[in-house]
Amino acid sequence: MEATAIVTRRVELEHAGASVWNERWTVRLGDGARVEAVLYRGDTLCVSSQVGCAVRCPFCASGRNGLARPLELAELIGQVEAVRAQGVPLERVTVSGVGEPLHNHRAVMEFLRWCQCERLKMSLTTSGGPLARLQEWLHAPHNGLTISIHAGTEPVRARMVPNAPPLGAVFELLRDELPRMTARRRKKTALAYLLIAERNDNDEELAAFSALAAPLGLRVHLYAYNSLPGGELAAVSRARYETVYQQLSAAGLRVSMSSQARVEANGGCGTLIALRPAVTRRSRNPPPAR
Ligand code: SF4
Repeated sequence: MEATAIVTRRVELEHAGASVWNERWTVRLGDGARVEAVLYRGDTLCVSSQVGCAVRCPFCASGRNGLARPLELAELIGQVEAVRAQGVPLERVTVSGVGEPLHNHRAVMEFLRWCQCERLKMSLTTSGGPLARLQEWLHAPHNGLTISIHAGTEPVRARMVPNAPPLGAVFELLRDELPRMTARRRKKTALAYLLIAERNDNDEELAAFSALAAPLGLRVHLYAYNSLPGGELAAVSRARYETVYQQLSAAGLRVSMSSQARVEANGGCGTLIALRPAVTRRSRNPPPAR
């Protein structure tokens, strides 16, 4: 696949923050819309797949105003090429920024093929719908598929991930598909639980989640919520986070805690886009002329 033949829309980067772990850019698209890209640990780029998001999770700034439009394949590739042009030696790309990648299925699937041609490992994070797309992605040659669950009961799922398939449907699909997947595909599939104080952190909710997830044998990423300035939702304490980790592990789940790269101020790509402070450091190179 000829990348230069595909990249027809210009993508510009505006440096928006950096730390010892991460580097963050606002990505200006050809029509003036803006999304976000975050470089983790110097070699992994988190890219956005849509301008806004129709799922509208209450903890996420990306979906606060709903969906404006999906990104074109050229704009997905453009984020990678623009960051590479800054001199960054990328090894991995994750479609976990602004947007629900399965709502932009065709472009993201083509982007996976492009990443394969470029020898970039590509992973993605999804809220799980549409289910037919999730079924397809479970078998696709990605390097990691994380399904955001964030609940153990349907009412809490409906509040945490409003415009996504219900828990029952997601777990039914997983129970059906996991036995048909290769061991490698199963190993590359994980669930995510974002812990938010007084929303989904009580023992009953976590026990219900454990009962659904444990039989699947999938890894569970337990994320700590980053509080937003002026936001209504609150993070759990570090002590509570560690207790939940122990509870889920004791229930038979293989649990991973948030990496430092995600916890600190420039992490958690997508979830903080609208509320982050302005530029904190100059870019390696000035953005290209418009
Ligand atoms: S967390 Fe993901 S699925 Fe939910 S609103 Fe944000 S971008 Fe969309």
